[in-house]
Order: sequence, then C-alpha cells, then structure tokens
Amino acid sequence: QVETLKAKLLEQAQEISRLRSELGGTDAEKHRDLLAAENERLRQEMKACEGELRELRRQQQAPCRDCPHLQENARLQEQLSQLQQEAEETRAKLVELDLEVQQKTNRLAEVELRLKDSLAERAEEEERLSRRLRDSQETIASLKSQPQQIKYIIKTVEVESAKAKQALCETQSRNQYLQEQVGMQRQVLKEMEQQLQSSQKTEAQLRAQITMYEAELERAHGQMLEEMQAMEEEKNHAIEEAFSRAQVEMKAVHENLAGVRTNLLTLQPALRTLTHDYNSLKRQVRDFPLLLQETLRSARAEISQAIEEVHSTNRELLRKYRRELQLRKKCHNELVRLKGNIRVFGRVRPITKEDGEGPEAASAVTFDADDDAVLHLLHKGKQVSFELDKVFPPQASQEEVFQEVQALVTSCIDGYNVCIFAYGQTGAGKTYTMEGTAANPGINQRALQLLFSEVRGKAADWDYAITVSAAEIYNEALRDLLGKEPQEKLEIKLCPDGSGQLYVPGLTEFRVQSVEDINKVFEFGHVKRVTECTNLNEHSSRSHALLIVTVRGLDRSTGLRTTGKLNLVDLAGSERVGRSGAEGSRLREAQHINKSLSALGDVIYALRSRQGHVPFRNSKLTYLLQDSLSGDSKTLMMVQVSPAEKNTSETLCSLKFAERVRSVELGPVSRKAELGSWPSQEQLEGDSPGSAAPPGRGHASHSPGQLSSRSASIRRKLHTSG
Ligand code: ADP
Ligand code: MG
Repeated sequence: QVETLKAKLLEQAQEISRLRSELGGTDAEKHRDLLAAENERLRQEMKACEGELRELRRQQQAPCRDCPHLQENARLQEQLSQLQQEAEETRAKLVELDLEVQQKTNRLAEVELRLKDSLAERAEEEERLSRRLRDSQETIASLKSQPQQIKYIIKTVEVESAKAKQALCETQSRNQYLQEQVGMQRQVLKEMEQQLQSSQKTEAQLRAQITMYEAELERAHGQMLEEMQAMEEEKNHAIEEAFSRAQVEMKAVHENLAGVRTNLLTLQPALRTLTHDYNSLKRQVRDFPLLLQETLRSARAEISQAIEEVHSTNRELLRKYRRELQLRKKCHNELVRLKGNIRVFGRVRPITKEDGEGPEAASAVTFDADDDAVLHLLHKGKQVSFELDKVFPPQASQEEVFQEVQALVTSCIDGYNVCIFAYGQTGAGKTYTMEGTAANPGINQRALQLLFSEVRGKAADWDYAITVSAAEIYNEALRDLLGKEPQEKLEIKLCPDGSGQLYVPGLTEFRVQSVEDINKVFEFGHVKRVTECTNLNEHSSRSHALLIVTVRGLDRSTGLRTTGKLNLVDLAGSERVGRSGAEGSRLREAQHINKSLSALGDVIYALRSRQGHVPFRNSKLTYLLQDSLSGDSKTLMMVQVSPAEKNTSETLCSLKFAERVRSVELGPVSRKAELGSWPSQEQLEGDSPGSAAPPGRGHASHSPGQLSSRSASIRRKLHTSG
C-alpha cells in the first residue's frame, strides 16, 4: 500500500509540474507584452496620421479661400472629424481592453499564488506523511525483533494505518478539489483567450477602416487638386481670350479712326467743289428765265412743225388702212369661198357614267392618228369611216374647240352673218359644246367674251354695240326667251323698208357690255327653256335654242356702218322617234323636230349646191336664219356623237348627216348629177351604213388613205374652178 501511495504521489507531483508548465504564466505575460507593444505602435501611427491630416488641412485652407469646392471640403472635413471621433472611441475601447487584460493578468497571478500555496501545503503534508511512514517502518523493524511487542505495535500500526488511510483520503479529495480548481482556471483562461482574440479582430477591423478612410482622403485630395488645376487653366484661358478680343476690338477702333480721319481729309475738297458748284448754280438760276423763254420759243416752233408732219402722215395712213380693210375683207371672203362657207366638225364626247359599265360602255369610235378629219365607227361588227373638216376626240377641251371657231366669231365684227349649229342625238354633248358648265364654259360665253375684247381693241376708231336675243323654237312655234311673255308666239316678218330683210317684231334685244351682263342673260333664258324627260335620256332637249348676237359698228373716221349676226343654235335631239317610245304630244314634238332638222339639211344642201331655189320657208328655223345662211354668210355644223356601243346606230345617222352636209361642196353641175336630192330625216333613219350614199360616194367603206386622196382631188378641183 505504501508503495502504491508513493507511486501515486509521484504521479501527482509530475501532473502538478506539467499543469504549471501548461498554464504558462509566463506565456500569457509575453502575449500581454506583445499586445502592449502593438498598441504602442498603433498609437504612434495614429499620431503620425493626425499630423499628416493637420498638414493637409493647412494646405487646403491656404489656396482655396474662394474655391467653389469649399462645400466639398467641409463635407470631407466633417467626414474626417467623424473618423477621428470613431478613432477616439476605438482608442477608448482599446484602453478598456488593456485594463481588462491587466485585471485578468492580476487575477491569474493571484490564482497562481494560491496554486503555489496549495502545492507547498501538499508537499509539506507529503513530507510529514513520508516521515511518519519512515517512523512507523522503523518501529515495525524494531517490533519484528520483539514479536510480542511487534504484535502490539502491528496492532497500533494497524490502528495508525487506518488513520493514515483516512489522511490519504482527505489528501485525495483535496487533490480532486485542486484539480477542479485548475479546470475552472483553464476555462477562465480559455474565455480570456477568446476575448483577446475578439479584441484582436476588432482591432484589425478598425485598422482596415482607418486605411480605407485614409485612401478616401487621398482620393478626395487628388480630386480637389485636379479640379483646382482645371479651374486655374480655365481662368488663364478666359484671360487670354479676353485679351485677344480686346486687342482685335482695339485694332478695329484704330482702323475706324483712321477711316474717319481719311474721310475728313477727302470731305474737305468735296466741300470746296460743292461751294463752287453752288455759286455757279446761283449764277445759272439768275440767267434761267431768259434762257427758258428762248427755249420755249424754239420748242413751240418745232412742235407745230412736227404736228403738221404727223397730220399728213396720218392722212396717208388712214387711206392705206381703208384700202387694207377692203383688201382684208376681200381676202377673207375669197378664203371662205375656197374653204367652203359651210364647214362641218365632229365632236365625240367622252364615255360618261350614264353609258353604264362593262362592254356596253366601250367606245365604238376610233380616230386616225395622222388625220384629224377622220373617224371610224364600229357598227354591228363593221368599221365605217367618215371624213369631216375636223374631228374633236373626247379629250379635246372646250378651249381647243373654241380655237377652231373663233375666226368665224370675229368675222361678224366685220359685218358677216355667222351660224353655228350643234347637231346630234340627245345626250351627245350639244348643250355642253354650246353652253358648257360654269367652270368650263362653251362656245356661247367664249364667243361673247372674244367679241368684247375684239371690240375693245378697235375702240379707237369704231363704235360698237353688241345686243343679244334668245329664242326657242318648240313645235314650230317661235318664242322669246328673254321677253316678258314667253308663251307668246312670235312671227317672222319682212322688213317694211323693202330691203328684203327679215325681222321678228317683239323679240327682246338686250344690250350687253360685260361678261356679267351675258351671264345674266343666259340665266334668264335658261329658266324659260322647255326641257322634258323621255326614256332615252333623263333630260332631253325637245326644242331648238337660239342665241342671236348682233354686232353693229360705226367707223368714226369714215362713217361706215356694219352689222354682223352670230347665231348660236343648240338643236333639238336628232334621235329617231321609235326609240324614244313617244306617243301623243311627244310624237308630235318628235315629228316637228325631225321635220325642222330635215329642212335644215335641205337648205344647206341647196345652198352648197348653189341651187336657184333654197327652201328656207319649210321650217321656222331655216326661215328665221335665212339671211344668216344665204349670201356670203358662214355656217358651222358641229355634229355631236356619243362613242357608246349602245348609241352606234344614232351615231351612224348623225355622222351620215354630217358627211352629206359636207360633201355637197362640188361644182354646181356635177354636184346635181352626183348627189340627187337631199334625203329626208326619215330616210336618214332608215339607212343602213353606206347604203344611202349614191354610187361612187360610199365613204363608209373607204379606208382613211382613200379618203384623204379624195379630199385632195376635191381641193384641186376647187382651186382650178375658182
Ligand atoms: P345634249 O345637249 O346633246 O343632250 P349634253 O350636253 O347635255 O347633251 O351632254 C350629256 C352629258 O355628257 C352631260 O352630262 C355633259 O356634261 C356630258 N358631256 C358631253 N360632252 C362632254 C365633253 N366633251 N366632255 C365632258 N363631258 C361631256
Ligand atoms: Mg342639250
């Protein structure tokens, strides 16, 4: 037992020494010293930083008193002070931590001291125990030699050993307690180490923050420097610019000054010459009245001589002019005679909405690109060609049409009678050609406008009066469209003066002087015109409308008087009765129309073939226009046709009428022999294409080339005969 106890004791002594070395009182102290040294170093660094900061602040304050970055600076300073405050706080924390470390080291020293005490105690106890053990062993040895005594001693030893056992137990429990104490101390040490670690961590964080703030400060400083540099440059630049500008301005001012100086120098001689001029002018003004009188005298003499000369020249000119006038009239008459004073034009209207759509609305009329007098009609699958004096295609404008008739219109200023007829089926464009629309007027308005302008051009020598009448022939009754009683039937009478002229008593005549007057007359006449519907076309004109323009002239220098009449006639529709589905009064109207159109054809035929008898009296229309159709009067027949497929038979009739009117232009003898008599309107209607034409005159089947060669031969004939 003693042996084992000894061994245990030894073990514990070893354990104690190990624990002592493990506790490492000296290590903790070393660590503390290290921390203290680090702390000192940081404090010094901080101090250096503060010094630098102070330096920077001083630098900033010196050059930047009026700098626009003061605000920025203030902000940075504020940041800096914040940083400093934080640094201060950190420092305080560090001090606190230091204090804690100190306290802990103190406590550690205390614990160590206590540990040492208890160890000493234990050593002492051990010493005491080992001593007793030795004593008892000695006693045992002496007792062994004295067995009785030994037995007794053994007994005492046994008793004593129980006591020793108890003491050992006590020591053991004490040892236990000490071990517990050591464990606790170790725990505390661990905690303290942890605390130290965390404080180290905080310190590292704080140091990182400090370096960050420093970097920021550095950056702000750099920025500030840069900006200051830029501002400095700007300032220098502005100064330079202002300087150069000032220099330029200065130069200009100098130049101006030099200019003004030279001006002043040049002005002085000018002033001298001006004074000189002024003096000479003054002298001239003094002499002027005398000079003026003399000049006036000579001028007067010159003027009277010139007037004399002009007078004689005028007389000569007037003589020449009159001769010229006579000559012109003769020439014109000759020209008309050569051309034939009855001319026939054709006008094809465009396809309109009323023509419908599809194949029905296709154009049955075609033209010859090389000859504007020819047109071709496709009727029942056959192409029929016609030659007139001129053909107007659908695209021909009102203006173009009027250009062709304006020579006729002006000739009535020279005292000729002129008739322009629009012939054709209803809807073929008669009214469009004669009246036109407000935006695009026809022959009527354009003719009157032309007359006005021509008359105005001659106003120096001639006095002209233009009057207008408007009449209508409906069912062979003549009515005044401008009169107060339009229903009244007028009569055509022979002039009582024995001149053989006709006149219509009661027919209103308006004197017109302007375009506005004409418009009023047309409006007035329009209201009264009879138009009614048939099933052929919604608005069909069933009467002949006449506009009679009389131009009376007086040549002031010669006293010569002229009278010319321009008759513009919008004829009633030439369509055949059967087609209009007429009955009763409509039938009667149609018969009258047909009769009067036939009569017109007859009269023209008789005139052109120079027959002795011209049947003017066969209709009201021809009778009324007698003196405008005979003699050296001029007539134009405008044959209007529709190009629509459905109108081809009417178109064919109209074109046949046109060609027949035109073709009576041959010499008197041959004409009679060739033409026979004029076909009636009914005959025209019954004709099939080309059949009514006498043998050898079937134009209908002629090609355009043949036609033009024929017209050339006619022209030749006319030329040799006349
Ligand atoms: P008419 O007097 O022969 O019965 P209109 O002159 O009234 O025929 O013409 C019938 C229609 O055709 C009208 O609407 C007219 O404006 C139109 N028209 C006739 N000729 C032309 C043309 N050359 N250009 C344009 N439209 C035309
Ligand atoms: Mg009409």
